[in-house]
Amino acid sequence: MSRIQSIAVFGSTGSIGQNTLAVATALRSELRIVALSAHRGTAQALAQARQILPRWLVITDQEAARAQDWSSLPPQTELLVGPEHLEELAAHPEIDCVVAAIVGSAGLPSTWGAISAGKRVALANKETLVMAGPLVMELARQTGAALLPVDSEHSAIFQAMQAGRPHEVARLILTASGGPFRNLPLDELARVTVDQALCHPNWSMGKKITIDSATMLNKALEIIEARWLFGVSPAQIEVVVHPQSVIHSLVEFCDGGVMAQLSPPDMKLPIQYALTYPARVPGPAKKMNWQTACQLDFSPVDTRRFPAIELGFEAARAGGTAGAVLNAANEAAVAEFLAGEIPFTEIAAVCRRVLNAHTFESQPTLERLLAVDRWARQEVTARVCS
Ligand code: NAD
Ligand code: MG
Repeated sequence: MSRIQSIAVFGSTGSIGQNTLAVATALRSELRIVALSAHRGTAQALAQARQILPRWLVITDQEAARAQDWSSLPPQTELLVGPEHLEELAAHPEIDCVVAAIVGSAGLPSTWGAISAGKRVALANKETLVMAGPLVMELARQTGAALLPVDSEHSAIFQAMQAGRPHEVARLILTASGGPFRNLPLDELARVTVDQALCHPNWSMGKKITIDSATMLNKALEIIEARWLFGVSPAQIEVVVHPQSVIHSLVEFCDGGVMAQLSPPDMKLPIQYALTYPARVPGPAKKMNWQTACQLDFSPVDTRRFPAIELGFEAARAGGTAGAVLNAANEAAVAEFLAGEIPFTEIAAVCRRVLNAHTFESQPTLERLLAVDRWARQEVTARVCS
């Protein structure tokens, strides 16, 4: 890179946000964080600001911002309160790159803002592509924004794709760990607790995506994400269970050659690659140890155990409003599960019912997608309460 990149980290207090800070600290001669954002974790955000000394700190939840004592905020850091400041900063000329690390559909407006402004976007917020893939990709094409995947599977595919040309790609194979319930007897699935579901075997992540990994709704969202990001048809996407999470995904080319990307399960590598691409530089991500015996296993997905996978393929095939409906229904259902209101197996079941009940539109605008998102959430609440 020719000069220091100025980075905004939206969602800096989350799992991806914290890993981004670790990468940026290790690569401080190339990257400088100039903006941080958090929703309610104000004490953590204040501590980050004291460490990073950014020019801006955005707190999106007004009440949380009011409740915090900001007297120790560094003098060079300006405190901005309210989500509208994210969109403002996303377009700010002093910011080169936005790390979109907010969880859920709340991340869409600021990611959209960064793409509209033609910025480099390190995209962790897969919901942006799940909800509005065709609109987002068209916008990026018009503005010249570079959309670089942070999701480990999509980063792996992006890296493996460097071995061929886009039209030579035959299949994308997404790997999935299978989560904590890969081997649980099927009849016990309905009784698993929140704590059991939050116990991921390989990755330490935010609560929402950890539950999504246990249901495999995360893989469903990733199928849709891959479909739009790489412009492939859903028939070219496959999912394989790989419990070690060392191969992060694979690309099969038309001649049968398969390229895989391997590394220990550590998000610092995909985050770093999205920030330094096309360069590769030494960084803080964990490295493989080839001198200990290890095994890499693969097995097909059991779709009776994980009905979410079919939801993902269905929404990827349908396009239009289907991704936004599935995403919102799942966000609402996960919140109900975490609150102890519905059993684990109801998450995918309620997504199925809401997806079936919605009036499909093939070419929705962004406004329609946001309206459909609200509708799907209300449907989940109504169905859970009835
Ligand atoms: P997290 O829950 O740990 O952090 C979420 C961040 O978003 C926090 O900083 C929080 O303050 C902020 N936030 C929450 N609600 C908000 C709102 N309404 N408005 C503005 N900000 C809000 O989540 P995470 O695990 O870091 O995941 C972030 C995104 O990255 C998700 O889209 C997830 O799917 C994706 N992702 C995460 C991982 C991972 O390893 N954690 C891997 C791949 C993709
Ligand atoms: Mg992933």
